[in-house]
Amino acid sequence: MKVEAKELIVEGKDKTVFATDSPDVALVRYKDQITAFHNIKRATIKGKAEASCKIASLLYGFLAEQGIPTHFIEDVSPTEQTCRRVEIIPLQFIVRNWIAGSAAKFLHVEPGTKPSNVIYEIRYNNNEAGFPIINDHHAVALGIVTYKELEELYAMVAKVNDCLLKVFADAGIDLIDFKFECGRTADGKLVVADEFSPDTCRLWDAKTGDSLDKDRFRHDMGGVIDAYQLVLERLTKLKEK
Ligand code: UDP
Repeated sequence: MKVEAKELIVEGKDKTVFATDSPDVALVRYKDQITAFHNIKRATIKGKAEASCKIASLLYGFLAEQGIPTHFIEDVSPTEQTCRRVEIIPLQFIVRNWIAGSAAKFLHVEPGTKPSNVIYEIRYNNNEAGFPIINDHHAVALGIVTYKELEELYAMVAKVNDCLLKVFADAGIDLIDFKFECGRTADGKLVVADEFSPDTCRLWDAKTGDSLDKDRFRHDMGGVIDAYQLVLERLTKLKEK
């Protein structure tokens, strides 16, 4: 379906969001831009927009099959999707099946350590505040969510994790950790409201342990687009099964 981009809603680091003719629908345009360390490190990688958009779209599809509500409507071009407009909740849930990245540093454990539980972290999505890790009580005190909504969110994020863990495992990939963001629809329902892709998930090849995500860019490992395309190829094969 052809959808025209109208006024700019938000210019993000890796995506731009536009209004459309329909007040309930936004157009999300992925960029070939890759950023890390809160935008300190930046580059353009040809083909990244298309790979990320297609991966996100496949993952939204797998979530929908499990009855998990997301803002995604449909792909409108290789690098554009339409999404329902929702009120974004300024929290990032970080889900860790294995300990890596910043958690390996602050918990002082080897990256790749498998904890006996799944670790859930909440971060306040606020640039001026420096994206701090906060707890449930802080989130309620800030008026961002109610305790009841938090309960619902933890249940949703656990369901997302179960679904994505299995999807990636079937693709020969360990889902080490990921970021989850959500939004509130006009009638107060909570829905997943951000992409899952190698930009927002840490993905390690289950056989080789190779990094197949943004860490390749963060740590100058090279082969960024090859990794994104490998993830896309494996998920596409799964979808076709
Ligand atoms: N993440 C993200 N956006 C952020 C912060 C983290 O998508 O602003 C993702 C990141 O890609 C990783 C997971 O959340 O898959 C956990 O990130 P971590 O806390 O280890 O921070 P990082 O290593 O990115 O500094």
